[in-house]
Amino acid sequence: MEGKTDLASLAINSTAPAPVSVTLEADKESLETVPAPEETPKEEVSVSKVAWVESDECTSCNDCINAVPNVFKYNSNKQAHVHNPKGDTYAKIVAAAEKCPAMCIHPGLPHDPNEPGLEKLLKRAEKYQ
Ligand code: SF4
Repeated sequence: MEGKTDLASLAINSTAPAPVSVTLEADKESLETVPAPEETPKEEVSVSKVAWVESDECTSCNDCINAVPNVFKYNSNKQAHVHNPKGDTYAKIVAAAEKCPAMCIHPGLPHDPNEPGLEKLLKRAEKYQ
């Protein structure tokens, strides 16, 4: 009966860790070895120095023509274009870009460095460049 005694002894002296704790340890290890994701560099956006319109996208809604007629005019296809980028304030050009339903007005950069509130205007213009 020696074999029976050995089996009982093994069962009592078993020190195997509970399955749950083994799994948690393994997960913790794998998390610690995962390298942190590298920061992706910001995409560079080139900005035009002057306001411009993607005329092909213009739906001829008249908004920019009515609001800033000294800057925007229709071309022969009745689609807006910039005929004078210095024809009005940067504030009005940015507002026209914000209002354009086709989002085809790009304000470019201010032509007057002394226009009030340029910092905020440039921020607002960012998403339309
Ligand atoms: S606001 Fe936009 S869609 Fe309307 S006329 Fe001007 S460029 Fe065209």
